[in-house]
Amino acid sequence: MPKPPKNIDKIISLLKKEAKNFANPIVTEIGEETRSPFMVLISCLLSLRTQDKTTGPVAKRLFDMAKTPQEIAKVPLKKLQKIIMPVNFYITKSKRMKEISRILVEKYNGKVPDDFDELMKLKGVGKKTAAITMVYGHNKADYIPVDVHVHVLANRLGWVKTKNAEQTMEELMKVVPKKYWYDLNDLFVAHGQNICLTNSPFCSKCKIREYCPRIGVIRSR
Ligand code: SF4
Repeated sequence: MPKPPKNIDKIISLLKKEAKNFANPIVTEIGEETRSPFMVLISCLLSLRTQDKTTGPVAKRLFDMAKTPQEIAKVPLKKLQKIIMPVNFYITKSKRMKEISRILVEKYNGKVPDDFDELMKLKGVGKKTAAITMVYGHNKADYIPVDVHVHVLANRLGWVKTKNAEQTMEELMKVVPKKYWYDLNDLFVAHGQNICLTNSPFCSKCKIREYCPRIGVIRSR
């Protein structure tokens, strides 16, 4: 394995302390204890290209009405669309959710497969959604889920030099020690949403600033 990124232990430890101040809106809304692999999968689909502060309440409203593949498969499409309307691309997402629910019921006995490649066979499920479902749904830390925040922060820190989230996931899995895989997404997302904003990061109040080369940062606060 290549050398782990410089100061990774220190950076993770500082981000862990910091993360206690920031709630993850989706986890908070649907409850960490009660979430199932299916709820994680559906929340992730809802969250694509949508802000977490919008996704969280929508996911909660949806799961209050239906939270299993069997239940969502039975909800009329128009009703589903009305519930998830605040998220972007709600029409496409509602159709995907119905289709995925139907396939899970018919082919997987109503269960979400705990296999990355099987998950990727579901229409609308990409690497990020599959990785999040494996890690936070099935508690299998065999992947590092990467969204825009993880992608941007990993590049600013110089841990990777990549052009898109899929490349970042592959490269991070080469350099980050496995003990950090489970937490990395949560920690980087919390830091990215609150401090290391994609357009203009708050470097002046960043707890890991002394360890960050700020690669590619043009404007900061
Ligand atoms: S110093 Fe700036 S660029 Fe680096 S992690 Fe902190 S906020 Fe992000």
